[in-house]
Amino acid sequence: MKNSQAEGVVLKKYSGFYYVKQEEKIYECKLRGKLKDPVLSGDKVIISVLSDDKGVIEKILPRKNELLRPRIANVSMVLIVMCNDKPAPSLSLLDRLLVLAYYNHLVPYIILNKIDMAPDPKAMLIKDYYPHAGFNFLETSALQGKGIKELREIIKGEIAVFAGPSGAGKSSLLNALTDGSLKVKTQEVSTKIGRGKHTTRHVELYPLEEGGFIADTPGFSVLDMPAISRNELAKYFPDFSDFAPGCRFNNCLHWKEKECAVIEAVKQGTIAEFRYYNYLDMLQEVIENERCY
Ligand code: GDP
Ligand code: ZN
Repeated sequence: MKNSQAEGVVLKKYSGFYYVKQEEKIYECKLRGKLKDPVLSGDKVIISVLSDDKGVIEKILPRKNELLRPRIANVSMVLIVMCNDKPAPSLSLLDRLLVLAYYNHLVPYIILNKIDMAPDPKAMLIKDYYPHAGFNFLETSALQGKGIKELREIIKGEIAVFAGPSGAGKSSLLNALTDGSLKVKTQEVSTKIGRGKHTTRHVELYPLEEGGFIADTPGFSVLDMPAISRNELAKYFPDFSDFAPGCRFNNCLHWKEKECAVIEAVKQGTIAEFRYYNYLDMLQEVIENERCY
């Protein structure tokens, strides 16, 4: 029988093998000799199917993008997890992660977890502002299983990563999402994330039943703040241009300029004050960094 070829997605690398999901099956694959590692989790590949569960990676298809820490290919969405309390959300972290998401051309989804708990005032600010300002927003309780079905629908068709502070519930959400779904069968996988004793971690993508993949490792942190120019920064605050188009100056930094529509919108309360101050903080940093180029 001639080997058939098929397109699949790399879920993980483990002990020299790549685990590739192709339709409803996972194939343990070697890499065709001429191909160079690294093949990343998230890579789309062409495999030759050798048997029911074995194959060879013949070709790596071009990557749409690549996250660096950890390295994952073709990520399309970032789930920014904050929670009602314990820890109380950090609005500046949230706004930074949003900037990073837009900068990396990822669709951000704000997840407010632990809705079974009473919200900290900062969680109230999140709820009051972001959905109304056009941001993707979902409330969940990993503990009670609330919002998990909706989250699965959101991830459908995407390769998603988590981001957000420690303790917000990323591991708990991952466990809730992947309960009962197809997983790579290696010893390592039986220990769910967060509690594993892995030394060298390779990112694993979990395929969800509904379609789509979620990475078992947070996708990026604010340590990865890129070199953004001062004029570019406001572009990553889409609510500013939505709520306040038409500053007098085209290159308005929304800082000290006269007839600034953004400053006006902040005064009117259309743009949240806290978000504007987070913008100003980042603007100062960006200006500082420009001096180092
Ligand atoms: P991570 O650091 O973001 O991965 O957070 P974890 O998933 O490890 O969760 C941190 C703590 O919050 C754990 O003690 C979880 O049991 C708890 N936790 C996670 N999700 C929820 C939730 O929806 N409600 C409540 N009350 N606790 C939760
Ligand atoms: Zn302005």
